[in-house]
Amino acid sequence: MNKETALKIFRQSKALLDGHFLLTSGLHSPQYFQCAKVLQYPQYAELLCREIANHFRHDNIDLVISPAIGGIVAGQEVARLLDCRAIFAERQNNTMTLRRGFELLEGENVLAVEDVVTTGGSLSEIIELASAQNTEIKGAGFLVDRSGGKATFGCPRFAVFEMQVTTYQPEKCPLCDQKIPLIKPGSRSLNAMQGK
Ligand code: ZN
Repeated sequence: MNKETALKIFRQSKALLDGHFLLTSGLHSPQYFQCAKVLQYPQYAELLCREIANHFRHDNIDLVISPAIGGIVAGQEVARLLDCRAIFAERQNNTMTLRRGFELLEGENVLAVEDVVTTGGSLSEIIELASAQNTEIKGAGFLVDRSGGKATFGCPRFAVFEMQVTTYQPEKCPLCDQKIPLIKPGSRSLNAMQGK
């Protein structure tokens, strides 16, 4: 999928918004991205996840594992396309844990799938969890790389889309200078932009 197609899908689904946003880090940004917004459309989820599935199609994947909550939808869709199992790990007492009777079997070929990678922390944790069960980690696939290519996992990695993150210190923000209203994601004004 080329960058323009991916961007069009993200904008159409309002997963990617342009404006002036206050990030949780306190920095300001001209863009705000919420991956769940694109995955609410199964046809877009399929288009994006097919890129991951195709990339790892010849690795005989037995199992896709994802970190909850963000990775669940993408993991399930990639597994559907690869015709294999999908499980997810959940954070419990600050540690990624398999619950609900989910199992990793020794020797299984495992693909770790996530929606958005920023530092790659959760994905690294589930790869460690899977490695500890003597599985074969075949790769890490994710929809959006916001790490600038820096997040690595000790296995082949594949990102559908690389998204640059532009941020400004509040006191040096050109959007503030232009008096563009600052929007805090989750606020009513953002919901209005998203057509809620
Ligand atoms: Zn600003």
